[in-house]
Amino acid sequence: MTTAEQPVISWITFIAAGVVGAVVGSFLNVVAHRLPRGESVVFPPSRCPRCGARIRARDLVPVLSWVLLRGRCRDCGEPIHWQYPVVEGITGLLWMGVAWRYGWSWETVLGLVFVSFLVVLSAIDLWEWILPDALTYPLAAVALLGRAWIGPEPWWWYAGGAALGAGVLLGLRWLSPLLFGKEGMGLGDVKLMIGLGGMTGISGAVLILFGASVSGLIGGLILMALKRLDTSGRLPFGPFLAFGGIAAYLFGSDLWVFYLSMAGWGNRQ
Ligand SMILES: [Zn+2]
Repeated sequence: MTTAEQPVISWITFIAAGVVGAVVGSFLNVVAHRLPRGESVVFPPSRCPRCGARIRARDLVPVLSWVLLRGRCRDCGEPIHWQYPVVEGITGLLWMGVAWRYGWSWETVLGLVFVSFLVVLSAIDLWEWILPDALTYPLAAVALLGRAWIGPEPWWWYAGGAALGAGVLLGLRWLSPLLFGKEGMGLGDVKLMIGLGGMTGISGAVLILFGASVSGLIGGLILMALKRLDTSGRLPFGPFLAFGGIAAYLFGSDLWVFYLSMAGWGNRQ
């Protein structure tokens, strides 16, 4: 695995990436809200779910509008869910992260598409408990075709990452009724992993499986302690896979250096 050199971008570019990312985030909110219901993501324009008032242009500023309106509709005062500003803010931060990591490059174009898919998939999985094929398949195609196009590793490295990641999750899905007596992984998780492994390659897939398991375990324990876990004890796994995917994508080589040094392999100079 090659260590990519860190490009230098201007502050203007960095801030602009965050602003444009937040605007894209408000579109991702619309997608996350409408796609599972089979509604068009383009028409009609955003409306208040209670009073039906069309959202004014000046109230469409990501994050800021929500804060200025104190999280309420301007017309009827109905609370607007905090999911909206959170998705906008996270998308803005992720766009800044990609721009910072990869600068002005085709890699950044691919990376911005990648993180945007992961935001909307995580939001849908959290609220609706599904990872729609309409998003996981295109993500897999974007990742594998994008990698075949710009590399930097040979195509089989990424195809191998997709196969390894999805294969392990498929194995867990098959094993978990035998071991734990209950359904584990959903097929949606397996399909999502094709895109994640396809984007980050074999070493990325290993990091993601590890990172998602650890963060999923910690997340589950926290929710259990807060008594927020539902009675089935199930937890949507998509957001944890997405978290692992973003960590592997932005910090993959650093994470490997860190784990190997923890294992005592980093001191042989
Ligand atoms: Zn309203």
